[in-house]
Amino acid sequence: MSSNLVVYNTLSRQKETFKPLDPSVIGMYVCGPTVYGDAHLGHAKSYVSFDLIYRYLKHKFPKVKYVQNITDVGHLTDDADAGDDKIAKQSRLEKVDPMAVVEKYMYNYFRDMDALNVERADIYPRPSGHIPEQIEIIESLIKKGFAYEVNGSVYFDVAQYDQNHNYGKLSGRSIEEMMDGAANRSLAAQSDKKNAFDFALWKKADETHLMQWNSPWGKGYPGWHIECTVMSQKYLGENFDIHGGGLENQFPHHECEIAQAEAYTGKAFANYWLHNNMVTINGQKMGKSLGNGIFCAELFTGNNFQLERAYSPMTVRFFILQSHYRSTLDFSNSALEAASKGFDRLSKGIERLKNLKVGSKTSIDLEGFEKSLFAAMDDDFNSPIAISKLFDGLKLIASVEKGTDSISQRDLDKMIGLYNTFFYDILGLQLEDETTQSDDVTDHLMNLILEFRAAAKAEKNYTIADKIRDKLKEVNIGIKDGKEGAEWDYE
Ligand code: ZN
Repeated sequence: MSSNLVVYNTLSRQKETFKPLDPSVIGMYVCGPTVYGDAHLGHAKSYVSFDLIYRYLKHKFPKVKYVQNITDVGHLTDDADAGDDKIAKQSRLEKVDPMAVVEKYMYNYFRDMDALNVERADIYPRPSGHIPEQIEIIESLIKKGFAYEVNGSVYFDVAQYDQNHNYGKLSGRSIEEMMDGAANRSLAAQSDKKNAFDFALWKKADETHLMQWNSPWGKGYPGWHIECTVMSQKYLGENFDIHGGGLENQFPHHECEIAQAEAYTGKAFANYWLHNNMVTINGQKMGKSLGNGIFCAELFTGNNFQLERAYSPMTVRFFILQSHYRSTLDFSNSALEAASKGFDRLSKGIERLKNLKVGSKTSIDLEGFEKSLFAAMDDDFNSPIAISKLFDGLKLIASVEKGTDSISQRDLDKMIGLYNTFFYDILGLQLEDETTQSDDVTDHLMNLILEFRAAAKAEKNYTIADKIRDKLKEVNIGIKDGKEGAEWDYE
């Protein structure tokens, strides 16, 4: 199958025609979240972007095998070898087991991604479930001379690897620059490493460390980079089509993944590296230290000081897709307000299309319209252009409505089909109709009922209060009485 899809490959720093290893099934691995906190706007951009890519690949090819890891151990606070394990740190803060932290935030992640209509990957492997596989590859890297053990930790020997490979080929960093630095010598002297830029494959764990496993080098845990190398190769093979992730993971994470994989197999790892850009908030970088982060759940409720109101998940999704995945996305209330209006206009266009009167022939350029939509997506998944073409289509609809142009039944069916393909299947949008409205109405009614019940209780009329509770239970609504009043939820 020939493909006219062009993708920007970070490895070559240019757009390339996408040539799959096996056109009958495309392999794609995307670095998933480290689940120590709720998903924020940056996660939304990342996973909506890769969802768009996944959906378009599925449209072009018979099958896509999509693997996304859920990191549950080994991701340290400095994104390299130093600091605390992000999940262990959170587990101490919340006074729960690390795996309870993982369960909680993993399900929250799925909840938020489901709301954004992000399709599930085929496999979500977790590194804690792949310890033997990781040990096996680390042992092999030691045997091949690419890794060394010191005091119960194992490090990857970057200088050794670079003799016959090109460490830095993804991120454009040169090992010479890193070697010459005085910082390298002094940093290496402080640790067990030969060079400061060597990275951990396995870290020794002291007794207080909450997550640890037996290994040939004593008790410890895997490094973050080896997890992705091992799990991508396990499910997609040693050489596969696409590896994706956030731009901030290009170095060191992805550079290290390539080094480990290519040292281990002697073959090329992923053929295409796709990186999505980050989110800024009112022109500023989003970050914990700046205190300007916005969680997905906050976007949907409006419960954040930076938000003027709540934005529906589809407004947020549309807003993300209105910029290219490789561009930065600047959040502001005015930009989201504009996205909300645009999404509404496009949604109404779909309704208008269904009510269009048909004529005996077609005078609009339907073929040109169709070509322009696919050309946009074939050009490195350019969703903002595709969306602008869908808006151009609204002009065609208007001209048929006015009677300036006409459309035949056959072509109207085709146009409806095109809008369905792009709006629902490829862009992954959904009409926001009565469901959101009825949710609002339910909220209002429930608050009203809870007010009446509180009034009954205040008058010590427990018969009425209990009756309200029991009747609601019959329709699967539960009431919980707390210090700050009663709360309700579906049971
Ligand atoms: Zn990764």
